Amino acid sequence: ADARPHVGRFAPSPTGPLHRGSLVAALASWLDARAAGGRWLLRIEDVDEPRCSREAADTILRQLDALGLYWDGEVVWQSRRTALYRAALDTLIASGAAYGCACTRRDLESQPLASDGARRYPGTCRDRPGVTPRAWRLRVPAGEVAFDDRVLGRIAVDVAADAGDFVLWRADGYCAYQLAVVVDDADQGVTHVVRGADLLTSTPRQILVQRALGLPQPDYAHVPLVLDAHGEKLSKQTRAPALEPSDARADLAEALAFLRHPPPADALTAGRDALLAWAVANWRPQRLAAE
Ligand code: GLU
Repeated sequence: ADARPHVGRFAPSPTGPLHRGSLVAALASWLDARAAGGRWLLRIEDVDEPRCSREAADTILRQLDALGLYWDGEVVWQSRRTALYRAALDTLIASGAAYGCACTRRDLESQPLASDGARRYPGTCRDRPGVTPRAWRLRVPAGEVAFDDRVLGRIAVDVAADAGDFVLWRADGYCAYQLAVVVDDADQGVTHVVRGADLLTSTPRQILVQRALGLPQPDYAHVPLVLDAHGEKLSKQTRAPALEPSDARADLAEALAFLRHPPPADALTAGRDALLAWAVANWRPQRLAAE
C-alpha cells in the first residue's frame, strides 16, 4: 500500500547506556527495517541537553556496534538541529496552530496529571494574545485522535482531555520532545516507527503535530516493555544494568525471546551474525499482538 521505501529508526535519549529494555526497542526496530529490506537510521535524542551526555551517546554507539545492529548513514544529533525545530515552531505560530504561554509551573500545580506525568493545561493563555511567552503550546482540537498500531490495533486518545494544549517549546529554551521527533521523523523520511509502549500516549500528540505541519504520518508499532521485579519499566532511573559488549549474543537471544521470537538451538550457537540473520528471516511482529 505504501509506495515509499521502508525507513525505520532508533532514537535513544543519551541519558545513560543501553540496558535490556532499550535493547528490545532497538532490536525490534532494526529487525523490522531489515526484514523489509529497508533502511535503519540512528538518531541521538539529545534535545534535552541538561539531561543528556556525550559520554552516554558514545557508549550507546559502541553498544549497538557490539550487538551487530549497524545503522545506515550518518548519526543524527538533535542538539545540532535547533534551527530546523525553530522553523517548524515558527510555521505553527504563523498558522495559529501554536500560541505563546506565560503560565509558570506554579500556576499549573493544582491541575490534574496527564498520562506523561506533566500537568494538564487548562488553556489559560489560549486566547490571551500579547502575553510574554515563556513556552509555546499546540492548540489541541477537541475529540479523539485514532491510529492503527501494527501490534496493538486501534488506539484512540482524547489528547485535549488527557493533556490539553501540550508544550512544543519549553520555558527553559529547549525544543520539546514531541516537536523534535515529528520534525526529525519527517525530515529523515521515516515511514515505520517501532518503539516501546511507554511512548504510546505520545503518538496521538505527535500525529496532531504532523497534521498541523502538513507532514505524512508514519506507521506505528509499539512493542511491550521489559519490566523489573517490581513491575516497573526498566530504565536508567531504576538503575537497569548497562549491556556489556562481551554479552552481545546472549543479550540478543534474551531480547528475541522477549519479543516472542525464541531462537532455535542451532541459531543460538552459530554466532551473533547468524542469530541476527535468523531473526531477520523469521521476523513476524504480529506475534507481539496480545492473544
Ligand atoms: N528518545 C525517546 C526515548 O528514548 C524515544 C523516542 C522515539 O522512539 O520516538 O525514550
